[in-house]
Amino acid sequence: MSEWEDHDLDDEYRANLLDPALLLRMFRYGVVYWPRMVVGVLLAGVSSFLWLLPPLLGGAMIDLVFQAAVDGPGPGRFILNWIHGVVSTFTTESFGQLPASTQIWTFAGLALGIRVLQFAVDWTNGYLLAGLGQRVIYDLRMQVFTHIHGLETAWFHKNPVGRLVTRVANDVGALEDMFSTAFVMIIKDVGMLIGVTIMILILNAQIGLAALGIVPFMVAAALVFRKYSRAAYRRWRVALSRLNAHIAESLSGIRVVQLFTMERRSRRRHDELSRDYKTAWMEQRRAWAVFRPVSTILSAGGTGVVIWFGGAAVLTGFALNQQDPKPSPAEFAALGGITMGTLYTFLAYVEQFFQPIRDLTEKLDVIQSAMTAAERIFTTLDETARIEERPDAVDPGRLRGEVEIRDVRFSYHPEEPVLRGIDVHIRPGSTFAIVGPTGAGKSTIINLLCRLYDVNEGAVLVDGRDIRDYSLRPYRKNVAVVHQDVFLFAGSLLENIRLGDESISRERVAKACRAVRADRFIERLPDGYDNELEEGGKTLSAGERQLLSFARALVVDPAILVLDEATASVDTHTEELIQRAVTTLTTGRTSIVIAHRLSTIRQADRILVVADGRITEQGTHAELIALRGAYHRLYRMQFAESGPDGPKPGD
Ligand code: ADP
Repeated sequence: MSEWEDHDLDDEYRANLLDPALLLRMFRYGVVYWPRMVVGVLLAGVSSFLWLLPPLLGGAMIDLVFQAAVDGPGPGRFILNWIHGVVSTFTTESFGQLPASTQIWTFAGLALGIRVLQFAVDWTNGYLLAGLGQRVIYDLRMQVFTHIHGLETAWFHKNPVGRLVTRVANDVGALEDMFSTAFVMIIKDVGMLIGVTIMILILNAQIGLAALGIVPFMVAAALVFRKYSRAAYRRWRVALSRLNAHIAESLSGIRVVQLFTMERRSRRRHDELSRDYKTAWMEQRRAWAVFRPVSTILSAGGTGVVIWFGGAAVLTGFALNQQDPKPSPAEFAALGGITMGTLYTFLAYVEQFFQPIRDLTEKLDVIQSAMTAAERIFTTLDETARIEERPDAVDPGRLRGEVEIRDVRFSYHPEEPVLRGIDVHIRPGSTFAIVGPTGAGKSTIINLLCRLYDVNEGAVLVDGRDIRDYSLRPYRKNVAVVHQDVFLFAGSLLENIRLGDESISRERVAKACRAVRADRFIERLPDGYDNELEEGGKTLSAGERQLLSFARALVVDPAILVLDEATASVDTHTEELIQRAVTTLTTGRTSIVIAHRLSTIRQADRILVVADGRITEQGTHAELIALRGAYHRLYRMQFAESGPDGPKPGD
């Protein structure tokens, strides 16, 4: 399994469903937008309340039809009394005495009014809370991105890009589901559950409690479902992320796939992963397929309980109403009677009661994965590995470029020293070359100079001052590094050279390109400097990319230039272009060249030979040749390889 594929399996993250610390931290992001949040929650309350009205209205109407008293024991006492109050402000007649058609119209009007209001409240609420969700997610996304950008290079070696992409994209996405849909639903569902429970207990406590007797069964079913669905959901998420990772990997490596004719193997892998995905999805559906009917049966059980007890109570009520004189509403209720309207309202409420439980159960997975995502995101946000700036750090302004590396020792891992005491002094404006076998520590010296890492012992001084005394960003502006593998961003050529620094004019870019002779190939491109490059700049040749990277360095006019010389072979013409560009680039500024071809550094003012984290030889080309040591051997070796056109021993 590749590193891309296992990122969803990290088991160290197992947030509890309702981890209070996590919830509180998530909540804090919303608190910034508290007016929206307060209004949203209030409206959700209003909406839940409005949902309680239609069953009451229906019940009241039935009671009216059955001529139950306005102040009777049924739902009419909530609705009819209220209507009665309103009506009596307009007319001396009571509602019951109005013509039947007027009564019906009043009910119809009320029902419509409630629906319209419900619509308005739900829409506004949905809009407000979804907006809240989006704002929170926006903040979080920006925060995670900015935070990750600020972390030190070492941290990125421990956290593969695939995992980080997941964090910024998928994990934030999982939270988005939570904030924009689940959050709204949870508030409403919980409001509804509370409202319905209160109403049925007020209407008739005995039947209400009997109906609520179903709840433990429902909870048990939900727990069993959750156990299965959670495992299935997790498998499904893993399958999905593996599938995506495989697609991403095979597409980004499409050249290798095609050139090494790996298509069939790649397709087979894709086939396996697709099958896993399908199986996991079906498993999840199976859990749902069982849970849905079970929960329907249970809620039907609730309805059954209500009909059983309620039906009997209605019959009692009928019998009581036959008596002469009719019992008072209090006696009616005390003797165990309910009206037909009450039964209707009950039945409607029971239905409304089980729906939110079902919804919440099915949303548990979304909430669970949001909690896990939140945990991972917060862990990333709590990561503090960064190059520390001293509180009294100064802006170095423009440096002259005198570099001194003073007895520097460094290791990436405590037990594996990489640099074992490096001492170097580089005069401003001189060209300094570092040579040595792979793994000797050349790049490490550069990493320390750029302050991607801080030294363990000793110090790096620039213009006589420890670089740790300088503010980081202004200091780094003084150093430009040209790497072997040039990274180009998707965007225009111009943007790729000035790298987002708008203060660099087009003319300056063009001048830099002319100086390194990149202008010729650029002007041949259809849109010249505005030519769009793909990410990676795959449409350009290695030599062209190299020239662009020179222009990039030259345009910022750094005090110190670091050149990690390309090992890739280019044709002789390009090689010559590059050599001339290097000369332009290094003239008049401190330059440090990590050299692979010794022929290119003969003119260097000083050459450093490192091996195994130590300086073994130091001097000019001529001095080192005369020394007949490691440099001389290396030089002879390259001469043997490059044949008669290469350097000659004794040069
Ligand atoms: P060179 O540039 O001379 O080829 P480097 O400076 O890149 O050598 O590497 C020196 C040693 O440090 C090597 O053994 C390499 O494996 C190790 N190394 C380089 N970068 C890292 C890193 N980020 N984490 C751990 N070890 C590293």
